[in-house]
Amino acid sequence: MNPQRILVVGAGHVGLYAALRLCRKLRAREAEVTVVDPQPHMTYQPFLPEAAAGNISPRHSVVPLRRELKRCKIVSGAVTRIEHSRKMATVQPIIGPPLEIEYDQVIVAPGSVSRTLPIPGLREHGIGFKTIGEAIYLRNHVLDRLDVAAVTTDPETRRRALTFVFVGGGYAGIEALAEMEDMARDALKYYPELTVADMHWVLVEATQRVLPEVDRDMGAYTVQQLLKRGLDIRLDTRLDSCVDGVVKLSDGDSFASDTIVWTAGVKPSPMLDDTDLPRDDKKRVTCLPTLQVADGDRVVEGAWSAGDCAAVPDLTGPPGTYCSPSAQHAVRQAARMADNIRAVIRGKEPLPYKHKHAGSVASLGLHKGVAQVYGIKLTGPLAWFMHRTYHVSRIPSLNRKVRVVIDWTLAFFLRREVVALGQLHDPRDEFTEVTPKVG
Ligand SMILES: Cc1cc2nc3c(=O)[nH]c(=O)nc-3n(C[C@H](O)[C@H](O)[C@H](O)COP(=O)(O)OP(=O)(O)OC[C@H]3O[C@@H](n4cnc5c(N)ncnc54)[C@H](O)[C@@H]3O)c2cc1C
Repeated sequence: MNPQRILVVGAGHVGLYAALRLCRKLRAREAEVTVVDPQPHMTYQPFLPEAAAGNISPRHSVVPLRRELKRCKIVSGAVTRIEHSRKMATVQPIIGPPLEIEYDQVIVAPGSVSRTLPIPGLREHGIGFKTIGEAIYLRNHVLDRLDVAAVTTDPETRRRALTFVFVGGGYAGIEALAEMEDMARDALKYYPELTVADMHWVLVEATQRVLPEVDRDMGAYTVQQLLKRGLDIRLDTRLDSCVDGVVKLSDGDSFASDTIVWTAGVKPSPMLDDTDLPRDDKKRVTCLPTLQVADGDRVVEGAWSAGDCAAVPDLTGPPGTYCSPSAQHAVRQAARMADNIRAVIRGKEPLPYKHKHAGSVASLGLHKGVAQVYGIKLTGPLAWFMHRTYHVSRIPSLNRKVRVVIDWTLAFFLRREVVALGQLHDPRDEFTEVTPKVG
């Protein structure tokens, strides 16, 4: 028998974990695994807020694919099309013409993108918070705005530089806001020109609560903690427009800001539009609990999906509910999916995925947090410690775990770095300026 050709589309939480497990559990003569991703690394997204705040080195919150997936073939590029009827995927490599990859089994795991709205000015002035590039840009940008505010003599420029707006109060938005504010507050120790009261950190949330992943009282506690720190929390409020950086809110307020971060949810990768796989009204790939792609009850043979891009029935909830888009589900689904692919290849029956969402842990800055796990509610340093231990246990590879723990230990003894490396974003500027034009 020829080895089964398994194609993994996207090496994120689902793709990386599934590929690792397939390589561990299947012999080389049973399967060959090809992994396609435009990035050379998996991003451990729950660490993005801490990477942005400078508690973890950005390099340590990503997992290099070629080091971890030594038994897989890695293709640096994006899958642009899947014709499952021909079992063929089109890949646009990072350089060169498109190529076609034929497969026997496909794992569709390109994840999600920011769910944006047609708000005037958002495209020009907003930034998401889903990639390591966005997190590091934001860190440099926030620190750079402190430098601008410290040097300017114009009060309006100063006010604008020190106004930071986050739209969306889920865990990504709350953690990003709280960690960045904590970092900026620390940095102000080195800015005698500025005080904490000069900064204006705003959360804009359309519903009446934050952190829908935990109980209402925990969301309310989080709001209280952020209010105590002087943050401006606008619940039941929408961003109406931000043309030229002038933020207009549905409560009638308006102010200028150089920093507008969009963290208001995610939607499945738009790449899925160019596939012949069945999808639901939210554009997610429809799956059975076994993680096999299915059109109604009909299994689409050889196609598997999980994670943020998939509608996977939640067998622990009432009928008709689906697993939430979270790392917690993604990594567990990946393990079940890899075991099911192995079962099918060996002529056995796949088993359903069943996991009761354990809860959520969120960091609100150094030594501050909120956690609700298996019904147990924790706040403050204990929750923060739980957040750290949980995520360090989850990030793949011993190498990353050790590096992250060393980062944290160092930060315990030495003050965190609060220097902006904004030059990274335009590294050729100086060289271009000093190099004469020809002709
Ligand atoms: C800031 C932040 C904090 C979070 N915190 C938590 C938390 O505390 N707890 C929790 O449970 N969840 C958390 N999440 C959510 C969690 O990270 C996601 O649910 C999880 O990453 C989904 O896994 P995935 O494999 O579906 O997608 P991803 O992990 O996003 O992986 C998708 C991969 O596909 C690749 N890709 C995209 N398009 C293509 C293409 N066309 N071809 C090939 N490859 C492609 C991408 O480069 C990426 O590597 C957080 C998310 C964010 C943004």
